[in-house]
Amino acid sequence: MSSEIHADGDIAFHVPSVGEDEIAAVARVIRSGWLTTGPETIAFEKEFAPYVGARHAIACASGTAALHLALRALGVGAGDEVITSPYTFVASTEVILYLGATPVFVDVDPRTLNIDPAAVAAAVTPRTRAILPIHIAGYPCDMGPIMEVAAKHGLGVVEDAAHALPAEYRGKRIGSIGTTTAFSFYATKNLTTGEGGMVTTDDDELAARMKVLRLHGISGDAWKRYTAEGTWYYEVTALGYKYNLTDIQAAIGRVQLAKLDALQADRRRLDLRYRQALAGTPLILPPEEDGEHRSALHIFIARVDPAQTSRTRTDVIASLREQHIGTSVHFIPVHLHPYYEAQGYRRGMFPNAEQGFDQAVTIPFYPAMSDATADRVLSAVRSALGA
Ligand SMILES: *Cc1c(COP(=O)(O)O)cnc(C)c1O
Repeated sequence: MSSEIHADGDIAFHVPSVGEDEIAAVARVIRSGWLTTGPETIAFEKEFAPYVGARHAIACASGTAALHLALRALGVGAGDEVITSPYTFVASTEVILYLGATPVFVDVDPRTLNIDPAAVAAAVTPRTRAILPIHIAGYPCDMGPIMEVAAKHGLGVVEDAAHALPAEYRGKRIGSIGTTTAFSFYATKNLTTGEGGMVTTDDDELAARMKVLRLHGISGDAWKRYTAEGTWYYEVTALGYKYNLTDIQAAIGRVQLAKLDALQADRRRLDLRYRQALAGTPLILPPEEDGEHRSALHIFIARVDPAQTSRTRTDVIASLREQHIGTSVHFIPVHLHPYYEAQGYRRGMFPNAEQGFDQAVTIPFYPAMSDATADRVLSAVRSALGA
């Protein structure tokens, strides 16, 4: 297990929960002589699909690749519109642009920072092809009304669940609700393979298409080409991508999946400690779980409330840095980045997303955090707020 506290006394923003079990799994795969996509990846997919309650799971090189495959398999292309929100990592917007389609941003719910379903309904046009909601910090979007809009207009729903493993909406796991759902296994995510992703669906045809597109558009079990049971003959039936996951990564993923419930229990315990210690400070805390929403508790986005303090988010980050506490900001809204501003977006277009960004500071939060480290973080945060 990597150390929680750096040699210089800094508390890291994130520490992955990886250790000897993952090392042993990687060593086993390397000794097997089969390094890229193969039996480990297939086993990982077979274990992942039932975990989120989906019929199919297709392992990918990244969460971005998973989102791209999902949209492409739905047939999204030039002239199509995809409704999404700007309060996200740029990956969920750029995949729409990769396909020549147009992202149509709508604002977020100021409480959850998730896409506002009423705004989605109002943004549908005859060119709309899909809706791409993002479950911010692992707190599920209001999928009920989103799925209703999709059904009414015949749209696909591609969920960005990079933060939402495992999360539940109305008793159903994220991964089993939308047309397709994309997960990320990037180094900081709840389940990591270093880099990696997974896309899930109940639709047999979409699953088959995504498998072909994942590996150069080659039909059939292309990965078997170099095995004794494989053959040299293959056919390219579509313009595909090189988006497969390696068996080395899949082996890490299988170990991580087996301990995910235990890691979530640690996140839940830490979340409770944070909420209790930060109640009564001038922070807006992450939305509370209720009968409909169970969060994956991926990251802890606190918001500095200007109605309660004159200190800004930027002041708080500076103070935490002085106190050797790592922080991050989730997210700089996509439309405020120079590449997107150059396309005509401006501050003022999505006020809830912009206000969320102006107030947000993400503080260290990971399952391996000890109570002592948590208490150091919490007293530093209180001190940064003058609370
Ligand atoms: C991490 C992340 C992604 C992209 O995942 P990668 O595996 O890094 O490609 C997409 N959307 C959100 C919201 C993310 O946080």
